[in-house]
Amino acid sequence: MNTDYTGLAEFHWLIEVMQTVDVGVLVLDLEYQITAWNGFMENNSGIDSADALGRSLFDVFDDLSVEWFKHKADTVIQLRNRAFTTWEQRAYVFKFRNNRPITGVTEYMYQNCTFIPVIGTTGKVQNLAVIVYDVTDIATSKLELKAANDRLAQLSRTDGLTQLYNRAYWEEMLSNEFKRQKRHAHDLSLIMFDIDHFKKVNDTYGHQVGDDVIRAVAEEVRHNSRNTDIAGRYGGEEFALLLIDSDAENALLFAERLRKAIENRRVSTPEGELQVTVSLGVAPWKESFHHYNAWIEAADKALYTSKDEGRNRSTLSK
Ligand code: GH3
Ligand code: MG
Ligand code: MG
Repeated sequence: MNTDYTGLAEFHWLIEVMQTVDVGVLVLDLEYQITAWNGFMENNSGIDSADALGRSLFDVFDDLSVEWFKHKADTVIQLRNRAFTTWEQRAYVFKFRNNRPITGVTEYMYQNCTFIPVIGTTGKVQNLAVIVYDVTDIATSKLELKAANDRLAQLSRTDGLTQLYNRAYWEEMLSNEFKRQKRHAHDLSLIMFDIDHFKKVNDTYGHQVGDDVIRAVAEEVRHNSRNTDIAGRYGGEEFALLLIDSDAENALLFAERLRKAIENRRVSTPEGELQVTVSLGVAPWKESFHHYNAWIEAADKALYTSKDEGRNRSTLSK
């Protein structure tokens, strides 16, 4: 066993450890010239330590932001304090290829870095050490988790058949707009509508065709409404639309346009083409609504007036 813990042997071990450790070790002088460059840096940059030593850091990494790096380094040197960067703030400081074959998420290595002031024998900061941690695994799994959660959130607010908002999410949006309206009123109108004699479609052509009809109606909603409008599938064959910046007159015009578009739409079935109509109720926002439910009720009532008066029509709520 080697028992020489001092002098050259110890220095040798230190170098050996620094060479093989699985983090990047980079030391700079105050002119940003490289004075140490370990095996991790060699392996990931493809530049040997013999070629790196003595060169300016900014020559070696020509895409490194000089201004950003100098600012970071100056703070560390002036305050004689460590500083950190995380992959969440800045994906990487040193552009190294991601060498993990498993992930398709990123081309480059995600990094956390620690900046350390190295104080010399004079008591002054003489060097700056940067430790580079490869956090690609953590970063990619976190990003993948976030993407999965976003997809889940998206799924939980859309109706599978029509891709419109589902009832729960649509009501949440309505509730938000309603609260906002109480603070600062805009022209807002609500439209509820329902497919006429839809049971007959199902009974005659089957449920599958019934579904096609619902999808076709949703498509007309999408084609005819604006991006800002909030459209949802409220129930089986009942739809709800919140029109932003629409007063009673505009909302009624819109309702009629949509009604005609649906009436003119042809849905193909194994037994030939099919047409459906809808009945609509239009309710502009009123100060007297104390809850958004009262607003829905007003639109629903107008919708049932349309049904009572013969269907395929729009009614403005009183
Ligand atoms: P009205 O003109 O009075 O609205 O008559 P209607 O036949 O459309 O009335 P009703 O609301 O009673 O019938 C709706 C039918 O819609 C009943 C239900 O079986 C059917 N339905 C509900 N959801 C779906 C669905 O997702 N797909 C299909 N194919 N049918 C559905
Ligand atoms: Mg119906
Ligand atoms: Mg119905």
